[in-house]
Amino acid sequence: NSNVWESDPELFEIVKKEKQRQLKSLELIASENFTSLPVLQCLSSCLHNKYSEGLPGQRYYGGNEYIDEVELLAQKRALEAFNLNPEEWGVNVQSLSGSPANFQVYTAIAEPHGRIMGLDLPDGGHLTHGFMTATKKISATSLFFESMPYKVDPETGYIDYDTLAKNAKLFRPKVIIAGVSCYSRALDYKRFRQICDDVGAYLFSDMAHIAGLVAAGVTPSPFVYSDVVTTTTHKSLRGPRAAIIFFKKGVRSINAKGEKVMYDLESKINQAVFPGLQGGPHNNAIAAIATALKQAQSPEFIQYQKQVVVNAKRLASGLQERGYKIATGGTDVHMLLVDLRNVKLSGAKAEKILEDISIACNKNTVPGDKSALNPSGFRLGTPAITTRGFVEKDIDKVVDFIDRGLKLALEISAKSGPKLVDFNRLAEEDSSFKGKISALR
Ligand code: PLP
Repeated sequence: NSNVWESDPELFEIVKKEKQRQLKSLELIASENFTSLPVLQCLSSCLHNKYSEGLPGQRYYGGNEYIDEVELLAQKRALEAFNLNPEEWGVNVQSLSGSPANFQVYTAIAEPHGRIMGLDLPDGGHLTHGFMTATKKISATSLFFESMPYKVDPETGYIDYDTLAKNAKLFRPKVIIAGVSCYSRALDYKRFRQICDDVGAYLFSDMAHIAGLVAAGVTPSPFVYSDVVTTTTHKSLRGPRAAIIFFKKGVRSINAKGEKVMYDLESKINQAVFPGLQGGPHNNAIAAIATALKQAQSPEFIQYQKQVVVNAKRLASGLQERGYKIATGGTDVHMLLVDLRNVKLSGAKAEKILEDISIACNKNTVPGDKSALNPSGFRLGTPAITTRGFVEKDIDKVVDFIDRGLKLALEISAKSGPKLVDFNRLAEEDSSFKGKISALR
């Protein structure tokens, strides 16, 4: 029962190094955040030890009276945090993460080889929204379901709802997904709903990226129009690495005879989670979700989310002032996409040089990119640095670091040709580069 630093110093040294990396670098990956101490305490609690297959009150193992209390509390807070009426919405808090949660939803409502339409990955969608290339079905969601992705307008960068509506009429999907991993504008859920209603599809919103903003009311809520909503809990929501599935209950529609057609999602979704695709729930994570959702209802959390958006807008406008192109011309949310095509620098090179100066971000395709393997942009997000207390004046410094880093990358790239530069090697060879790199650290 010794501490990990006593029982396994080799591993603990690595953990310490990662902690230093997190402390010393600028975390601009849009999907990451620094969670709170109560969340970390729940994750490392004794709740981890318990098996509890099933739902509260209906378990396949004994000894679950307190686990039931934890899960019921997480369910109640999930509904409260998003202002949902328990008569209209049900919730499952057992999904292990965002990708399994999405697969569980398709399993429940699309049936094998059912048709789904999500935003294409190179246009800002997620792998689990049915991603495939021209030659290969990449994601299991495109292997086990029939996927026809929709796109953004390559000129404006905004979702092309008109073409989605036209294609939905031809493809007749069972599910349309409103959700993004790299898209900086508020989604038009009303329009999605109309398109779904025209073809009799479910509207499934994956709010993984924006859940914190939705809880704080700083971006439109998908719940107004959706049938099913999933979210991860570890991104802007600042909770543990886990997911939640929300599903509609009650009346779905009125049929031609004037009769009420009821939703039948509750048992389908709960069964898709367990026993469909999972076994024992991770009770430590469920407790961590519960405590994160308590925090998400505080005035401080609303203020935090407002600052996340202010910071993202400031980052976008600051980079624009330095001549960088931002996809769609700006942002409504916590993230932005820098389009490097006018700077002649690839997304991979930008990611590498920024990593070298302790700024973490990720390369990303921009609207109209031909190859997802060699994207022309990079994605930035402000949830993590805002958790660390960054406000506008700090963002101005971040803009300056990024700009100086990219200019350095351009200089090095001109010297070494188009292949990805090994900056450390260059620094060894040329002391002037070494000076520049360390000056930026
Ligand atoms: N959905 C969206 C919109 C995402 O951006 C992500 C992850 O980035 C996921 C789902 C998948 O979440 P996870 O990485 O927890 O499987």
